[in-house]
Amino acid sequence: MIDLIEQGAQPLVDAFRRPITYLRVSVTDRCNLRCVYCMPEAGLPWIPKPEILTYEEIAELVRAAAGIGVRSIRLTGGEPLIRRDLQRLVGMIAAIPGIDDIALSTNGLLLADQAAGLRAAGLGRVNISLDTLDEGRFTAIARRPGLARVLAGIDAAIGHGLGPVKLNCVLMRDTNDDELEAFAALTRERAIHIRFIEVMPVQDNVDLQRTSWISSDEVLERLAALGALHPVPNPHGNGPARTFAYDDAPGTVGVISPLAHDYCERCNRVRLSADGRLKLCLFGDHLIDLRTPLRTGGGQAAIIALLRAAMHVKPERHHLTLGETSSAMRAFSEIGG
Ligand code: SAM
Repeated sequence: MIDLIEQGAQPLVDAFRRPITYLRVSVTDRCNLRCVYCMPEAGLPWIPKPEILTYEEIAELVRAAAGIGVRSIRLTGGEPLIRRDLQRLVGMIAAIPGIDDIALSTNGLLLADQAAGLRAAGLGRVNISLDTLDEGRFTAIARRPGLARVLAGIDAAIGHGLGPVKLNCVLMRDTNDDELEAFAALTRERAIHIRFIEVMPVQDNVDLQRTSWISSDEVLERLAALGALHPVPNPHGNGPARTFAYDDAPGTVGVISPLAHDYCERCNRVRLSADGRLKLCLFGDHLIDLRTPLRTGGGQAAIIALLRAAMHVKPERHHLTLGETSSAMRAFSEIGG
């Protein structure tokens, strides 16, 4: 695939001249948690199993994308670690020429058991979701218990070199925002990179979003009140976080603020749903079916043609408004954030 670029294939660039080098792949829409901001406790229809891409199909899509300049892959979900033998997929992707960064987003519940195998298969790093350090609160937010297992997963990720280990914390007013200081303190002790994420709207959380949303500006003010805070480069990658560190801290704190300060102009990514649809903006409803050409033998040429055509459809920016959703997305678990 590198050959394609070497042979003159143009890398993927969208209509707004943004190079698209990053593909987020949802491997399942199922999850073993039910976080209140992400998905309903029950009633979400699952994608029928036959519609979910096989590992071979995902690898074929990644190979096509790598041939036209995609370099980074993130596996997400639902919860990716509940899909059987994920390390097999990691190994397949790691063998694709051109892919130089494989990351995983996980809630960490199953990570302690799988970290060594994932690392050996070629996984580079993990982001782990953690909204609270209190077990009772964890159960209230995730609607399932499991804090101790997540903490064990974080230790395993660090122990097996799956770093920089980033923690994603969705901060909600009067739910967990009083833990901001405790999370910040962790970065002074360990090489942990915490990113506070503004709650984003999906159809099922609009009420929660109206009552709980906290601006990243407020978060930064509160972080700065805890000690001198220096801007630092994002540890690994050019993601959307604005990142800072305290004096001599091994870790960093950051904010991701799609609403208060969107980062659309730097957008470098597209997303693949578990059933093989390319999603061009997290908050848009532009979806392109890649599964049909895959399953009808269209081969790499057909997929590459569709990826290129998608670049004309990718919107310049999202049109999110606080407390509203402009998208048909019911839950983040459908696409993986
Ligand atoms: N299960 C994996 C995990 O927990 O990281 C991957 C999928 S999860 C949907 C990806 C990320 O999206 C998590 O960090 C989660 O906290 C975040 N997320 C889900 N719903 C969100 C929302 N409404 N607003 C902001 N972040 C959200």
